[in-house]
Amino acid sequence: MVDLKGQYEFIKEEVQTSFNKVLSTTSFINGPAVKEFQEDLEHYLGVKHVIPCANGTDALQIALMGLKLQPGDEVITADFTFAATVEVISLLQLKPVLVDVDPRTFNIDPQVIEAAISPKTKAIIPVHLFGQAANMQAINKLAEKYSLFVIEDNAQGIGATYTYDDGNKIKTGALGHVGATSFFPSKNLGAYGDGGAIFTNDDDLAHFIRGIVNHGMYKRYYHDVVGVNSRLDSLQAAVLKVKLNYLDFYNERRKEAALNYSSLLSGHPNIVTPFTSGNCTSHVFHQYTLRIIGADRDGLVQYLNDHEIPCGVYYPVPLHNQKAYFDPKVNQDNFPVTNKLVKEVISLPMHSELTKEQIKFITGKVISFLA
Ligand SMILES: *Cc1c(COP(=O)(O)O)cnc(C)c1O
Repeated sequence: MVDLKGQYEFIKEEVQTSFNKVLSTTSFINGPAVKEFQEDLEHYLGVKHVIPCANGTDALQIALMGLKLQPGDEVITADFTFAATVEVISLLQLKPVLVDVDPRTFNIDPQVIEAAISPKTKAIIPVHLFGQAANMQAINKLAEKYSLFVIEDNAQGIGATYTYDDGNKIKTGALGHVGATSFFPSKNLGAYGDGGAIFTNDDDLAHFIRGIVNHGMYKRYYHDVVGVNSRLDSLQAAVLKVKLNYLDFYNERRKEAALNYSSLLSGHPNIVTPFTSGNCTSHVFHQYTLRIIGADRDGLVQYLNDHEIPCGVYYPVPLHNQKAYFDPKVNQDNFPVTNKLVKEVISLPMHSELTKEQIKFITGKVISFLA
């Protein structure tokens, strides 16, 4: 699905120089590389504060801790996302309220969100799924109307630019009260191990979160709140610092690959290609995900695997039907879109090193199976 080797070859020397700098100083934890990457990312995103941490799941958890939500508070999020989004809500003894998504964008549907708001609702977590920005204008409006926090799960969307109706452009992750991302190797900005970060424009929240990631300490060995230990290590920061300079290039290559895929697949009666609006700056194609309609999706997965083409089903089970999150009181009829999508979606290989020939080969096999 990704070509990390090809990507490494291209930036090998820069990464090794950056690595060597950390190795020669041996400041493996909270070294200068972490601070440098943090500042570079603040500048890139146009956000006041980036707080690096150990992974994307921690980033989401810490963001929720930072907002001081209380057990029993309700947090609305998408039924169709990676489990980490809802896992952290449950871990903190908050109540996840899962809502259905838009069949075109696969993202949380603002109308459905509004219907799910109760007096106990405290926050919304939109996920920029597969790299496409959620409808943040509508979500932020709802948040304002009902005094809710907005926490963006930007693990799949880093580098996407969201454009408001008035033309104002803001990077995803910097659109809500707080944003969270992951630097898992296969993400659009991936480290060579685990990593994550939290973003906010709120000075007080940033200060509070900087303590949370460091055992609740604001002064050495004085623990004011119960925190966690969640750090981005210096070697990962050294890689990320190099790769951040290429993020726009990587995302542009992904977009080209996506347009190329779509030009070869759209119009086929069994295929719905990904929806994008305008010039698709708000989509960074973390995944290139098709819907297969009126044909055997699982058969296609098997057929592609038999031809050594990697593909994935993200995600095969709606969160509301996962054992860990199943609630018998929740009505299946609330999720017509997610219940359908889990049977239709298939993600094809997507990365910045895909060639035209590879895409032609892959799409050829998809079409020959469906023919
Ligand atoms: C990858 C991912 C996460 C978790 O990130 P990790 O770094 O693996 O903990 C959270 N949410 C979404 C939507 C993701 O894709």
